[in-house]
Amino acid sequence: MAKKLVIGNWKMNPSGVAQAVRLIRAIGKGVRRYKKAEVAVALPHAFLHLKLPSSLRKGAQDLFYGKGGAFTGEVSGGMVKNLGARYVLVGHSERRALGDTEEIVNRKMRAAIAAGLVPVLCVGETARDGESHYLHRVKEELKSALKRLSRAALARVVVAYEPVWAIGEKAKGALPPEEALHMNLFIRKAFSDVAGEQAARKLKVLYGGSVTPANAGAFLAEGKMDGILVGRESLDSKRFLAIVRAAHLAR
Ligand code: PEP
Repeated sequence: MAKKLVIGNWKMNPSGVAQAVRLIRAIGKGVRRYKKAEVAVALPHAFLHLKLPSSLRKGAQDLFYGKGGAFTGEVSGGMVKNLGARYVLVGHSERRALGDTEEIVNRKMRAAIAAGLVPVLCVGETARDGESHYLHRVKEELKSALKRLSRAALARVVVAYEPVWAIGEKAKGALPPEEALHMNLFIRKAFSDVAGEQAARKLKVLYGGSVTPANAGAFLAEGKMDGILVGRESLDSKRFLAIVRAAHLAR
């Protein structure tokens, strides 16, 4: 059985390199006990140069789609890859809120693949409605992000379902875990329309949004999620490790 994947999204934290190193050490040491989970940390670009222990994979939180040149302030997929990253988040709702359109998300997906990275495509509705319009939104986000990706590229994609209303400090709470299975199947079906059934069966679908040590296991067991994308709780090594433990124990 494939290992569950847990990715910590540190967002724009911590403020200093010494704290980042301490957090990496604590998490890196702790995850050695949980070999049945794959664990990555999506670091701010400022910390991507840090060496990670072999128990941890490196991820980035964003990339730019240009290969190089006059793009002040941007970081290319090649740069991220050269710093040792395997994963890169693409289309996180906080990036979309800062201006990443569906066209930009698609260009970033293609740039991530071209750089040899594994894109973790974040999709999710901003709000729920009684008429299931939100499902249409999720499908559209998914399909537009996957445009012009080859079969080989599609086989590398990881999808993180992150309902925006469930993310971060202002969250209204996590998705009820019993609804996670529905969203998991819905995303897999939409992915299969683009990539084919075989690729959809192999697709890793993660859940993100207010995951805690108390509810992580339910998303993996009841929701049959292939992993978890963790925001706030990834900055507290003990709580993050408790989520990793749930992934290690999940069947
Ligand atoms: C996120 O921002 O990707 C996220 C999952 O945040 P949180 O866990 O803090 O809700």
